[in-house]
Amino acid sequence: MQNESRCRFCGEKLQFTFVDLGMSPLCESYRSTPQLNMMEPFYPLHVYVCANCFLVQLEEYVQPENIFTEYAYFSSYSSGWLKHSENYVDMAAKRFRLDASSFVVEVASNDGYLLQYFIERGIPSLGIEPARNIAEAAIQKGVPTRIEFFGEETARRLKAEGKSADLLLGNNVLAQVPDINDFLKGMKILLNPEGVITMEFPHLMRLMDENQFDTIYHEHFSYFSFIAVEKIFAAHGLTLFDVEELPTHGGSLRIFARHSENAARENGPRVNELRAREEAAGIRRLDSYGDFTEKVKETKRKLLDFLISARRRGKSVAGYGAPGKGNTLLNYCGIRMDFLDYTVDRNPYKQGKFLPGTHIPIFSPEKIRETRPDFLLILPWNFKEEIMDQTSYIREWGGQFIVPIPEVRVYA
Ligand SMILES: [Zn+2]
Repeated sequence: MQNESRCRFCGEKLQFTFVDLGMSPLCESYRSTPQLNMMEPFYPLHVYVCANCFLVQLEEYVQPENIFTEYAYFSSYSSGWLKHSENYVDMAAKRFRLDASSFVVEVASNDGYLLQYFIERGIPSLGIEPARNIAEAAIQKGVPTRIEFFGEETARRLKAEGKSADLLLGNNVLAQVPDINDFLKGMKILLNPEGVITMEFPHLMRLMDENQFDTIYHEHFSYFSFIAVEKIFAAHGLTLFDVEELPTHGGSLRIFARHSENAARENGPRVNELRAREEAAGIRRLDSYGDFTEKVKETKRKLLDFLISARRRGKSVAGYGAPGKGNTLLNYCGIRMDFLDYTVDRNPYKQGKFLPGTHIPIFSPEKIRETRPDFLLILPWNFKEEIMDQTSYIREWGGQFIVPIPEVRVYA
């Protein structure tokens, strides 16, 4: 079967599969009781790697408007993420000497979770956020916000108003941009000649090393290595002069970019070091991407083996959490209520609803004490220590934890 889709960066035909996770619903589309009797859209979750530029990517199956114009995720609900953002603002304000005469722009500024800290310091800031309900929350908080998608057109309009950014940032937005060249053109236009861009996104090398296939979902169009992102920025006249590796989202990169013409800012040693490490890991060789599929299939077999054997022995299994990544895992593995009785989540918005596709009911965490399951499958594995702490009481009745990623493991 020949695929006609083309690379969203370089236009090469996409022929090489990174991993095919089958058909899946949008991972944030939790179902209500009446919706259980309605049709539910499923889309292919098939990831390719471009043989020319090594950008790992999904084809564009869903119009982005359908995903982002009303979004249920408010960044300010996560205290860990707020702390991360405040630390970033500290670092950026010092390192780039930002003050009342500077101008900061954040793309996909969400509910103002980050810009609020610049504004507290008297540093003029502007957010750009397409999800209306979330942008309005930011505006109410006193964070100036434009309700639109970012790209060349938006950047030209801002530039025409005399705006240009000393610091242009975007966290967890690059992966979600359908037209990456339009987005980069916009950044090139809006950035001051001496300005700096910072972007954070999950690091492909960590996804591959740690088998994090469940972080693949329709909202994430692209999965970046440092080598691929450097090439994309360079094509738009932007040079990466520094990079940090962060523990967030299972392992992220924070890249620092400048205009290629701005030679005053020298490249730091971390750029060459990481590029060399990725070279050695085979990021520039197609065959290194081929092994991933087998790793993913083996995880599915192991998890199903475990669940089948537990169920045969009459054991009960419940889930903990209802994150997007859990939905990819459960849909790919075909785990429904035949294996998992229910899951729980602390977010009241999700309680009383059902997971997309698998229709597993979501309760509040009290349900665990009521039903005393033999096993608790932890879906947000990136918080496993915290969750095992909070629910350590399952040990009172001999309950055990299952963590599916990076490999299926049971914790007594
Ligand atoms: Zn390409």
